[in-house]
Amino acid sequence: MTSPQWLDSWSADDGAARVRTLFAEAFGDDGDPDGVWSAPGRVNLIGEHTDYNAGLALPVALPHRTYVALRSRTDGLVRLASAQAPDERWETSLDEVTPGVTRGWGAYVAGVAWALREAGHEVTGFDAVVDSCVPFGAGLSSSAALECAVAVALDAVHSLGLACDDAGRAELVAACVRAENEIAGAPTGGMDQAASLRCSAGHALLLDCRPGLSALESADRVPFDLAAAGLNLLVVDTRAEHALVDGQYAQRRATCERAAAILGVSSLREIAPEELDVALDKLVALSSDGDGDVLRRRVRHVVAEIARTGEFADLVRGGRVGDVGPLMNASHVSLRDDYEVSARELDLVVDAALGAGALGARMTGGGFGGSAIALVRERDVDGVTAAVQAAFDEAGLAAPGFLLAPPSDPAH
Ligand code: ADP
Ligand code: MG
Repeated sequence: MTSPQWLDSWSADDGAARVRTLFAEAFGDDGDPDGVWSAPGRVNLIGEHTDYNAGLALPVALPHRTYVALRSRTDGLVRLASAQAPDERWETSLDEVTPGVTRGWGAYVAGVAWALREAGHEVTGFDAVVDSCVPFGAGLSSSAALECAVAVALDAVHSLGLACDDAGRAELVAACVRAENEIAGAPTGGMDQAASLRCSAGHALLLDCRPGLSALESADRVPFDLAAAGLNLLVVDTRAEHALVDGQYAQRRATCERAAAILGVSSLREIAPEELDVALDKLVALSSDGDGDVLRRRVRHVVAEIARTGEFADLVRGGRVGDVGPLMNASHVSLRDDYEVSARELDLVVDAALGAGALGARMTGGGFGGSAIALVRERDVDGVTAAVQAAFDEAGLAAPGFLLAPPSDPAH
C-alpha cells in the first residue's frame, strides 16, 4: 500500500523565513520588507452553499497559512512574486486595477488594495512576495488566505487600524470579498474571508450571512475543543480536478436566486424548515421551465443545511461535539443527491472514513473535487487514514493529501 502523504503546516518562523528569503531575491535591491503577515486557509465543518443564501456556516481556521512579506511604495506600482507561481511575476499600477480587466493570480492581491481604496482608505502601491502551505485549489481557500494576508499587511503599513478589532476585521472581510468577486471574478460568498480574518484558535466561527447584520450579529465564536474530546478533524485533499467548478458554482447560485424569486422571498434563508414542504410544492407548481424537480432539490438542500448548521452549533455549545457525526453525514448525502456538487473521490473518502470508524464525514467547500473531512477519534486517525488511502489505491486514483485541522489562529 502507498503510505499516506501528510501535508504539514509550517511554523510561524519557517513561514516568515521563507518569504523574507524570497523577498530578498525578488525585491531585495531596494531594501527589506516592512514586515511579514499571514492568514490561514479554512475548512468548513457544516453549512455548505449556504453563505450566498443568507444562511449559516461553521468554518474553522486551518493551521496552514499563506505568508506575505510586503513593503509599501510611494507610487501606485504593485509588483508581486509567489513561490506557488514562480514563472508568473505580476505587475500593475493600482490605477489600472479594474473589474473584468485585471487577470492572473495578482488579481487576488491587487484587488484587495483596490477594494480598500474603494472603501475610502488611502492605499499606495507595494512590492510583495507570497509563499503558502495552504493546499492550492483544494477547497481549503488558498484564495482567501492570500487576500486576507494582504489585507492585514496593507492595514498595518497604512495604519488603518482595522485589524485591531472584530468590527474592523469585518470591514477587511468586505474588502477581500469584493477583491475576489469583482477583480478576481470568482462569485463566491463571504464565508472564506470571514473565517480567515475572524476565527480564533480553539473555536469554530458560526457565521450568519444575512445582509445588513452588524459585525457582532454576523459571527459567533463557538468553543470547539477537539483535543479535550479526544477527537481530531481529518481533512483529505482528494486532488480531484474541479475544472467545472466556476460555471457550476455560478449556476447553483443563480438557481437559488431564481427559486427565491419564484417563492417571493429575498433569500432562501427566509424559508423556515417547517414551511419547507409547502414551499417545495409551490416551486414545482410555479416553475415554468420544466425544472421544478431541480429547483425543489436545490432548495431542500439549502433550507435543511441551514437547519443542520444551527443544530451542529447547538450540540457543540452544549459540550456534545462527539454527537455531530450524523449531521455531517446528512449534509454529505444532501450535497451529493440534492445539490449535486459531490464527486466520486469525495464520496469515496466519506464511505471509506465511515467504514473505518469515523464519527461523521462529508465533502467540504464548493465541491466537484477539492476536500472532504472526517471527525475521528484520536486512536482511529491512523486506521481511517489507511482506509482512505487504500480506497484510492484500489480505485486507481492519484494519492490524496491528508491534513489535521485543530482550529487555529486568524490572520495577523
Ligand atoms: P481555493 O481557494 O479553494 O484554494 P481558488 O480557485 O478559489 O481555490 O483559488 C486558487 C487561486 O488563488 C489560484 O489559482 C491563484 O490564482 C490564487 N492563489 C492562491 N494562493 C496563491 C499563492 N500562494 N500564490 C499565487 N496565487 C495564489
Ligand atoms: Mg477560493
